[in-house]
Amino acid sequence: MKKVVKFGGSSLASAEQFQKVGSIIRAEENVRRYVVPSAPGKRFDGDTKVTDMLYDCYETAVKGTDFAEKLEKIKERYNEIIWGLKLSLSLDGEFEKIRELFAQGVGSDYAASRGEYLNGIIMANYLGYEFIDAAEVIFFDANGEFDAEKTNKILSAKLRKIEKAVIPGFYGSLPGGQIKTFSRGGSDITGSIVARAAKADLYENWTDVSGFLVTDPRIVKNPEPIETITYRELRELAYMGASVLHDEAIFPVRSEGIPINIRNTNDPSAPGTMIVENTCKKPKYTITGIAGKKGFAAINIEKDRMNSMIGFGRRVLSVLEDNKISFEHVPSGIDTMSVFVHQSEFEAKEQKVLAGLRRELKPDYMDLDSDLALIAVVGRGMRATRGTAGRIFSALAHANINIRMIDQGSSEMDIIIGVANSDFENAIRAIYDIFVIAQL
Ligand code: ADP
Ligand code: ASP
Ligand code: MG
Repeated sequence: MKKVVKFGGSSLASAEQFQKVGSIIRAEENVRRYVVPSAPGKRFDGDTKVTDMLYDCYETAVKGTDFAEKLEKIKERYNEIIWGLKLSLSLDGEFEKIRELFAQGVGSDYAASRGEYLNGIIMANYLGYEFIDAAEVIFFDANGEFDAEKTNKILSAKLRKIEKAVIPGFYGSLPGGQIKTFSRGGSDITGSIVARAAKADLYENWTDVSGFLVTDPRIVKNPEPIETITYRELRELAYMGASVLHDEAIFPVRSEGIPINIRNTNDPSAPGTMIVENTCKKPKYTITGIAGKKGFAAINIEKDRMNSMIGFGRRVLSVLEDNKISFEHVPSGIDTMSVFVHQSEFEAKEQKVLAGLRRELKPDYMDLDSDLALIAVVGRGMRATRGTAGRIFSALAHANINIRMIDQGSSEMDIIIGVANSDFENAIRAIYDIFVIAQL
């Protein structure tokens, strides 16, 4: 039995949290062999993550302003952990090098990556595990895309020779050796890459909640944890805002059929959530989870006999492509089509896009909706159950919420609903109540 264990920022925010992590690893010392740490996160509400401190400090350095004080504050975060754990370790040399490179304008990816790098050095020292710098085993290609095959070849060869190791999350290197990070929350991806290379039996992802919850705990108080969820359901939920796991994190383990277990560092006896390829296990409720995102705009286009015009949809989307705007959903009727786009991306190019659409399509009518939120109700159980959409609509009607859009994914595993940004939280609570509270 071999496990890869990834610990998130809040699990490593202080010496006290490190001690909890130490006990978890020692409880299965010969199994939890490869450890992927994040940078220290928030210790309390209102605290700042070390990653954010690093971005901020580097920005100050780039402006040519004195950044010594900001860097000192970051060093204090690490020293607090080192002293709290009573380690005989000094990061003075590392910080000197970081100071020099910041002054030379080494790049913000390098800056941010130091959060995990330094935490990895501390973790390896604390556990007595070998430290592997992610820059030597995780690779990106010349276009900045993650190079899965090169990484897997080199990393798996390396892990075969090392029984226990700490590999910091979030970054790797470009062909020239320059540091490159994944997008925010990317340590989840590193954990998955290491699990694949180690041919682990399980990828444990330790965080600050007792698993993947039916919905966001910042919106619904103490939502139920999901016992088992499939990769596909998880990806839909993660993409739609359930930020507990990075939405790209399933790919490396999925290719090897390695399950992911989301666990709580602050409650290690809770079983958490198992994320698997397939399962016969029936979900406890009709729906598996609810997630959503705010900040969308909709372009509504009407044109008589749109349905019989070949290539109409393609022409709409090509105008967006020309303006480098990605779209999220395209619900359509016989003579109508709406395109949901990210409002922040769209706003600056709004008039260019509208002019492009008018020129290309000569619509009968076109208007815009803004400040919309999208909510995804996801569940493998929905296909076999009638009336799911009906229940969602009646829950929202009872809560006095106007539905602005409905779209059912072709997998019949998700229903996407558009509501006003201001109705977002209430809509999620209403859907949670009808599917979960009403069933308890
Ligand atoms: P880590 O630092 O361990 O990587 P994150 O902050 O990235 O942790 O993810 C955990 C957080 O995700 C939780 O504290 C919670 O606020 C948020 N979250 C959002 N949606 C969900 C959900 N459906 N289930 C669990 N947590 C969720
Ligand atoms: N520390 C990085 C971030 O805050 C990566 C991670 O935590 O996964 O985004
Ligand atoms: Mg995270």
